[in-house]
Amino acid sequence: MDIAHWIGGRTENAGTTRWCEVYNPSTGAVSGRVPMASTAVVGTAVAAAAQAFPAWAATPPLQRARVLFRFRELLLAQADTIARTIALEHGKVLSDARGELARGIEVVEFAAGIPQLLKGEYSENVGTEVDSYGLRQPLGVVAGITPFNFPVMVPLWMFPVALACGNTFVLKPSERDPSASLLLAQLLQQAGLPDGVFNVVHGDREAVDALIDHEAVRALSFVGSTGVAKSLYERSAAHGKRAQALGGAKNHLVAMPDADPDQVADALMGAAYGSAGERCMAISVAVAVGDAVGDALVAKLVPRVQALKIAPSLDAAADMGPLVTAAHRQKVLACIERGVAEGAKLVVDGRGFSCPGHEQGFFLGGCLFDQVQPSMSVYREEIFGPVLCVVRVPDLAAATALVNAHEYGNGCAIFTRDGRSARSFASNVQIGMVGINVPIPVPMAFHSFGGWKASLFGDHHIHGPEGVRFYTRLKTVTSRWPERRGGAEFTMPVMK
Ligand code: NAD
Repeated sequence: MDIAHWIGGRTENAGTTRWCEVYNPSTGAVSGRVPMASTAVVGTAVAAAAQAFPAWAATPPLQRARVLFRFRELLLAQADTIARTIALEHGKVLSDARGELARGIEVVEFAAGIPQLLKGEYSENVGTEVDSYGLRQPLGVVAGITPFNFPVMVPLWMFPVALACGNTFVLKPSERDPSASLLLAQLLQQAGLPDGVFNVVHGDREAVDALIDHEAVRALSFVGSTGVAKSLYERSAAHGKRAQALGGAKNHLVAMPDADPDQVADALMGAAYGSAGERCMAISVAVAVGDAVGDALVAKLVPRVQALKIAPSLDAAADMGPLVTAAHRQKVLACIERGVAEGAKLVVDGRGFSCPGHEQGFFLGGCLFDQVQPSMSVYREEIFGPVLCVVRVPDLAAATALVNAHEYGNGCAIFTRDGRSARSFASNVQIGMVGINVPIPVPMAFHSFGGWKASLFGDHHIHGPEGVRFYTRLKTVTSRWPERRGGAEFTMPVMK
């Protein structure tokens, strides 16, 4: 099946010369192909968004919000179709795909209430009969570039907020699972969004560079790997553009000696192996405080990892499905080989796993490394697969220092029954999102999502109040209605 761009309210494919294959990771078969937008195609999409901007920006905020209310209802009505589309191209299991959509819908619900956050500030009589007020106005055309691992939720982190604030949007989704973005576009149109307000262009670096370089694009939101995030941020900054670029992660869970070992093991199973580890908030490092905790944790994890039910994404009984592509599977396998070569102890080896009846699928069994050292590549690098590393440290101070020394700073968690340890950890850790007995602390839509260090380039986290600030700019008006003309004043205006 040929997938298309969505420009000015309709599908568009004319003149495509470059295509990319899309796979069903559960079978390994090609399921379709997606067009790679040229700079000219991106220009057409930006032009459609620029043309739609003045009318959309002038639409009263409550009317914009009403489109989002209707969009929410349509998303709920089409939830099964959307979840299936995600599962078939990404490979995550259906229940997880439904969960992704549910978390995305929460942002639509938040965005429908954004008129409340667009209210400005007003000061009466800042000088005699002089009033001052602040407005938050939309930027214009804004763009979102999104990763493969949440083909619906991550776009929904961006465009509902951008649209509610009065901007028009061009989405460049991942070329690995592009179909869901078209469903979103069609539902927005059914919800009454004017044509051109939301557009989708597929593609790779050429399309992304064209978006950054196009003078009508005022701001860019990016979620993906750190190398691309950093270069997109730098290139946007060189153009004087606003950018928020969320990058990779290596999230630690610190297990304290007083934590319930079964609770920790169960939390780690979902957080490390759910979605085959292809989540930016996946836990990929378990930090055992004390050798006794390490030994008990590994003893509890080994049978659980061995018992993981790995099956095609549409199998209702599956705990996890395949990885997204054969190339990604090869990359994860290479990371595991390096870990073994560096001396980490591979206590569960999932490399030989093959799914009966789906031998060509991109499956990989769960892997567990013990005795991992901070110098090893399996500890330092983001693997983005079903691989958990256990590191042992003597105490909480060492655990905190370990987390803080890591390049990434997206999420982390501590499991403990001691409030003082939890408070000290939450206060001192250099990480953007912290969980206390919560393994995947993804903030709700009305808070903001974002990491620190190499996990985010830019000043604003995504969605929530920070999202509103990112997609609006402040204007401050000072006004006076004098009774009669005064003379010219050449000194700095001061309060009178
Ligand atoms: P990726 O960086 O390969 O791709 C992300 C987007 O950038 C895609 O749309 C892709 O087409 C585009 N892209 C790829 N290479 C590019 C280049 N050289 N120049 C310009 N654009 C380019 O990431 P991915 O593999 O799709 O997603 C996985 C990564 O995303 C992981 O590193 C994961 O941690 C990260 N991620 C981070 C968060 C977060 O909130 N911090 C959330 C989800 C995923």
